[in-house]
Amino acid sequence: MECFICKKRLSGRYYVDQWDHKMCEAHMNNDAVYCYSCTCFTKKDITLPDGRILCPVCMANAVKPVDSVAFLTSTVIKTLNKVGFDDLRQEDIKLEIISADKMAQVRKSSVNLQNKGLTLSNVSQSFSLLGGKKQAFNHVIYMLTHLTKNEFAGVLAHEMLHAWQIQNGISMSPQRTEGFCNMGSYLVYITMAGSLNKLYLKQLHENPDPVYGDGFREMYRYFEELDWKRLIQCVRERKL
Ligand SMILES: [Zn+2]
Ligand SMILES: [Zn+2]
Ligand SMILES: [Zn+2]
Repeated sequence: MECFICKKRLSGRYYVDQWDHKMCEAHMNNDAVYCYSCTCFTKKDITLPDGRILCPVCMANAVKPVDSVAFLTSTVIKTLNKVGFDDLRQEDIKLEIISADKMAQVRKSSVNLQNKGLTLSNVSQSFSLLGGKKQAFNHVIYMLTHLTKNEFAGVLAHEMLHAWQIQNGISMSPQRTEGFCNMGSYLVYITMAGSLNKLYLKQLHENPDPVYGDGFREMYRYFEELDWKRLIQCVRERKL
């Protein structure tokens, strides 16, 4: 057995990562760490300004501010449209890929790498002479830079379900709101291709957070009972 980092034969104590790579004990936190995105062992070659260290594979796959995300965005919207979120429209949504610093600024909070997305929505109403009321939506979704394509899609789906809830005037407890949004990430991770989806699904199911984790598990139980169509209907009709 050889070390994933130095390629020498392993002797003595070693670490094993989630991908079954083995690594000499001495590398840990010296010249190697876990990749922030895929938890695979990686050399400390590239550190992002916010402190994240990504393995070469995740780095190559990371979505950066200069990248075009039109295709990824339309794939996520179509995936959500298909199961019943049919009133989400790409033209109502603007995307910005930003640094962790900028994310903290927009949220008016301190830097936290767990803040991977944020949606700010604007609803404007117009009234026609015949008395009809029309609403227009403008959502800006801020996305943390350097997420892998899979995680980017998952976080984007989460944010889009915030936009969807706003569009439909739905206001639930924080736990249910975030739990429901995480169902969007779940959908993307089980639908789209990518070797990291399994890991992200696991993190979703096992998230210890009382809002995001417990909220997701509650919504997932409803989903298993109801399916997408009826779950969406229940949320729309405030029946949960
Ligand atoms: Zn080694
Ligand atoms: Zn990685
Ligand atoms: Zn959220």
